[in-house]
Amino acid sequence: PPNNRIGASVSIERTLVLVKPDGVARNLGGSILARIEAKGYTLAELKKVNATRELLEQHYEEHVGKPFYEPLVEFMLSGPVIAAVFEGHRVIEGFRSLAGTTDPTTAAPGTIRGDFGRDWGLAVQQNLVHGSDSVDSAEREIKIWFEG
Ligand code: UDP
Repeated sequence: PPNNRIGASVSIERTLVLVKPDGVARNLGGSILARIEAKGYTLAELKKVNATRELLEQHYEEHVGKPFYEPLVEFMLSGPVIAAVFEGHRVIEGFRSLAGTTDPTTAAPGTIRGDFGRDWGLAVQQNLVHGSDSVDSAEREIKIWFEG
């Protein structure tokens, strides 16, 4: 990283990144993690896990009851996921920008979802990755996946 000798307003964030079951099944885990590292963020924690319904209910608590919730949970239970914590200044926003928008059909080329994803016509977007959307959700989600 660049030398920051004047120490101006760097504040290190942590974010939870998941490579969802579609990404693991397609052997894209390494490529996805490499892109995050290449952007300059630091890998702090990493594991491969089989999620449980209980864990996913906590993780996706804001979506419980929505039409896509049940298909989303079934999808997330369909195979292992890679859970990672990445660190860096503004990593939460930076990773979401790198991931691209939720719908992989229209996610910009150059993003993970835009380059590797498409719509398969299923009840849920199989869009390869998850990234926390705020400092509060990052803290909450890291606890769920790494200290649960
Ligand atoms: N999702 C979906 N259809 C929707 C909204 C969400 O299939 O209309 C799925 C998709 O896999 C998404 C996840 O539910 O990644 C969580 O939704 P969120 O709005 O948090 O999107 P994200 O932050 O992951 O882009």
